[in-house]
Amino acid sequence: MKAMVLKGPNLPFERVERPDPVAGPGEAVARVFTCGAGLTIQHVKAGRRKVQFPRIIGHEISGEIVEAGPGVTGLKVGDAVTTYFYLDCGHCRWCLTGFEPLCENSGGQIGLECDGAYADYVKLPARNFIKLPEGLDHKKHPAEIGVVTDALATPYKVLRRARVRAGETVAVIGAGGGLGIHQLMMAKWARARVIAVDTKPGKFDACRKAGADEVVDASTGRVAEQLLELTGGKGVDVVVDYVSATATLEAGCKALARRGRLVTLGGSGKPFQASAADMLNKEQDLLGSRYVTRSDVLESLDLVARGEVFPLVSVLRPLEEAEAVHELVERGEVIGRAALRING
Ligand SMILES: [Zn+2]
Repeated sequence: MKAMVLKGPNLPFERVERPDPVAGPGEAVARVFTCGAGLTIQHVKAGRRKVQFPRIIGHEISGEIVEAGPGVTGLKVGDAVTTYFYLDCGHCRWCLTGFEPLCENSGGQIGLECDGAYADYVKLPARNFIKLPEGLDHKKHPAEIGVVTDALATPYKVLRRARVRAGETVAVIGAGGGLGIHQLMMAKWARARVIAVDTKPGKFDACRKAGADEVVDASTGRVAEQLLELTGGKGVDVVVDYVSATATLEAGCKALARRGRLVTLGGSGKPFQASAADMLNKEQDLLGSRYVTRSDVLESLDLVARGEVFPLVSVLRPLEEAEAVHELVERGEVIGRAALRING
């Protein structure tokens, strides 16, 4: 099979021929139609996320099962599938209680700790394939359906984590990014008032189209002040921070209303300061949200199947153009998600 391989950090992709994978016990192999290209995996290419090289990245797939290994039940040749990103154990108390991303025995993530889908075929533990529900036209929209598993399901889960209710105000920091724009979409779907915060005014039109009622230009600084102005000094009910730099987290905290919730995800993991007095006196919550459960993926796919929301893929290029696509991702120039066409 052909594959685009990374041989080290900060190196270009190399197109190589690899043997077709063969499913062992408990594994399955899918032919890949398309695979999303987002910032999470660009971090690997750019050396910001340490992995063992050589590595084939990519986890937001649409594809079709071509082989199910010994002992695999519930998957058969021809099944249309996407992937669950985390290599969870399935047996620990977190896996068993519906918190798979917190698995105590995690094997890591697809495309980071094992080879992913920038190739004709991908071999994974069978439990990492999720069968697509009825009503999704994966032949017509393979790229959009492939990115649901992360780009749409992650924002969907955040709605629950932050307990977003209709009529609340939700501010999304990093709204122009691949996850941010889908967070706007999901917050609008949840009937919130939606505020997009980003440093790139060139993305504001796309933010408005995705569901933003207002936009805040963060390149001027003054993010908390602008959010307070837009809410008559009351503050926003929920801040979702996809940048999660020290400055954005601190601005997000300052912009929170009474009973406000701040959600951090992505970012550098660096410390930030919050006011314990505000947390107490205003009963504010500071929350982390880590990827999603399989159930979140299935529910997000169902939402797409029912026409409630539809992922935004604005760049779709052949696998061989992975390098150019990743340059766009690195520069933050993609609106929504980029994806690579492999056999789609
Ligand atoms: Zn586990």
